[in-house]
Amino acid sequence: MAAAGPKSPGNCRKQERAAGAARRFFLNPEQRPTMRIGIDLGGTKIEIIVLDRQGATLARRRVPTPQGDYEGTIRAMIELVHGVENELGVKPGEGPPVGVGAPGAISPGAGFMKCSNSVALIGKPLEQDLRQGLDRPIRLANDADCFALSEAVDGAGAGQRSVFGVILGTGAGSGLVVAGRPVQGPNGVAGEWGHTCLPWMQEGEWPGPACYCGKRGCVETFVSGTGMARLWDEQTGETLTSRDIAARADQGDPRAIAHLERYENRLARALAMVINIFDPYCIVLGGGVSNLERLYKNVPGHLPKYVYAGAAITPIVKARHGDSSGVRGAAWLWPLEGDPAHWRNA
Ligand SMILES: [Zn+2]
Repeated sequence: MAAAGPKSPGNCRKQERAAGAARRFFLNPEQRPTMRIGIDLGGTKIEIIVLDRQGATLARRRVPTPQGDYEGTIRAMIELVHGVENELGVKPGEGPPVGVGAPGAISPGAGFMKCSNSVALIGKPLEQDLRQGLDRPIRLANDADCFALSEAVDGAGAGQRSVFGVILGTGAGSGLVVAGRPVQGPNGVAGEWGHTCLPWMQEGEWPGPACYCGKRGCVETFVSGTGMARLWDEQTGETLTSRDIAARADQGDPRAIAHLERYENRLARALAMVINIFDPYCIVLGGGVSNLERLYKNVPGHLPKYVYAGAAITPIVKARHGDSSGVRGAAWLWPLEGDPAHWRNA
């Protein structure tokens, strides 16, 4: 899912103004940026990174997220930008545009936050406030979009024409990147794969666990790390993390092995649905559950049972940048002059 897509004429004009500002920025030879700045706004920390044209890290900082304090959060982000720019000797007024990855859905056009797990952000005009505070264009995207973008540009999906990136952690966020840009639509929900119903439900799965989004049986409730652990708890009465369950399986515990086999089949079903609709050239897995090496061996084997015409050669690979993907992807939201053409279609 992703940031802004204009709907109303007013929003169109706003977007054009923002785009115009960006164009002027890039076309002014005196101010041509040679670096990208990305901010990952998380529930517990705010991280900033500055990348050079090739993606090497020039500066990186992180601070705790002011809890329940929207204005404090905006201030902290502005201070981070000014801090790294001072460190790198960027003159005032010559800093590059900033990309921001934030949890939750982003209202198209206005950049308002909704459905965020950081309650202080909900309903706030994050993009507008940062644009005013930093006096430059801002691009805001969902954190899963940033993850997918980072992996598509120079991560595990580098060189692929399209990448579906999935974060399997507390939730199951995902993003779709085509030709180096996150796919965005009029509802701002592209990639909300986690909140579609688990497909090809089997006996005992219907209607599925209740999800915080208000529905039952969402993919997220089955394939997130939290979902894996909760289903184990329901079946055994024992509270374990997904990592504990995997360790049990490694030790040969038949119940843990069966639990992971069911998990792999469900993940394959959920990914087969994406392949049937979009057929990405590569699927990249991130988040805590992506550390289970057995997924890369076993999940592809289930795909042909569910992918149309009974064959699937889609590579499923582990993220390269780990926890850095969110902040790196935020930085890649803005193209630089001289980037490969397919990155500059924004
Ligand atoms: Zn849901």
